[in-house]
Amino acid sequence: MQRKVERNLWIITGVTSFPFVILALANPDKVVFPHLYILMAVAGIFNGLFVPFFLMRGEGNWLRYTLAIGGNLLISYFWINFTGGVESIFYPAFYLLPIVAATLYADFLGAMATALVAGGLSIYAKGQATGWKVTMWQDTRMLAQIVLFFLVAAIVGYLLKVQREQFRRNQKMNEELEIAYSQLMASHDQLQSYTNIIEKMNREMEQLAITDELTGLYNYRYFQMTLDKELKRNRHSSLTLIMLDIDDFKTYNDRYGHMMGDKMLAEVARTIKSLVREIDTVVRYGGEEFAVLLPATRSEEGFQVAEKLRQAIAALRVPTADGLQTSITVSAGISCFPVDSLNKSELISHADLALYRAKEDGRNLSRIYEKLQ
Ligand code: GH3
Ligand code: MG
Ligand code: MG
Repeated sequence: MQRKVERNLWIITGVTSFPFVILALANPDKVVFPHLYILMAVAGIFNGLFVPFFLMRGEGNWLRYTLAIGGNLLISYFWINFTGGVESIFYPAFYLLPIVAATLYADFLGAMATALVAGGLSIYAKGQATGWKVTMWQDTRMLAQIVLFFLVAAIVGYLLKVQREQFRRNQKMNEELEIAYSQLMASHDQLQSYTNIIEKMNREMEQLAITDELTGLYNYRYFQMTLDKELKRNRHSSLTLIMLDIDDFKTYNDRYGHMMGDKMLAEVARTIKSLVREIDTVVRYGGEEFAVLLPATRSEEGFQVAEKLRQAIAALRVPTADGLQTSITVSAGISCFPVDSLNKSELISHADLALYRAKEDGRNLSRIYEKLQ
């Protein structure tokens, strides 16, 4: 914003210099010292372009204003006297440059002061040129030019004063807006970090709600949800369910204690998880029962997976605190959608029935529901 104002002032004063150059070019015969004529033309442009630039860097102060306005007035005065410009009918216009420049730099009062000095200088120049004749004072143009100086100074000065006040108000409003904006951003960030924490906690809670603490497997709740989804997803292929139940686990607990029982459960869970595919779902169905859901798998393939799991679990050795190697076996029941079960409840109950058959047949066995006699 400040830059824009500076640039505008620069352009205005730059442009106001050019009429003086044109005036000088239009009156070459009035020039007394030709070299000074060129010099003054350069000075006119320099005055218009450089002085505002020099002044507008940083905050203005009275010394700077005085220097700038004084410099402008001197340039105009010398121009008029040494170029013979005083002979020209346009010569009051020479003083318009410092007046306009003064209004730009020093506001309303500065403009008035400059108009006063310019008027004084103008009278002095005229007096010098005419030898202070009485007729000089009777020249209405003299009066008209002084009035013109004050009019220009008053109008431009006033307009600039209004513009500057507006600019300051805008600047203040901008600053306040910026502060409000940064406060808003800070609270937004704070809110975002709370939201992140809550989202993280939610994810953790969701994970906890579907996880079995002892084994780290999914729980019964998750199994029910997933089974529905998998049945929908596999409606054009097949979905196999394996139910596994540890054999004589009560006896194991009685013999080695519940702590060892828990340890064994965790080891069995880890073994199952390590042997199935990424897309398969392993669940702790109940106390010492596990369910394995195999998407896009037929019962025969499911049977092979069950056998692989059964053998691996039978080969598992879990040491007691005394270094005693303990082992268990599991029985497996297999059902398959849509071969032998057409819905969720059939899939579960048929796998259960196959599991009971495996128990009946002597345990440490796998049975497919489809093939039960
Ligand atoms: P079966 O071969 O017929 O399955 O015999 P079982 O003893 O395994 O069957 P039953 O259902 O009679 O007993 C299951 C036992 O599993 C009872 C309980 O002590 C044990 N159990 C269930 N959940 C846990 C558990 O979280 N930790 C431990 N240590 N034992 C458990
Ligand atoms: Mg059991
Ligand atoms: Mg059981």
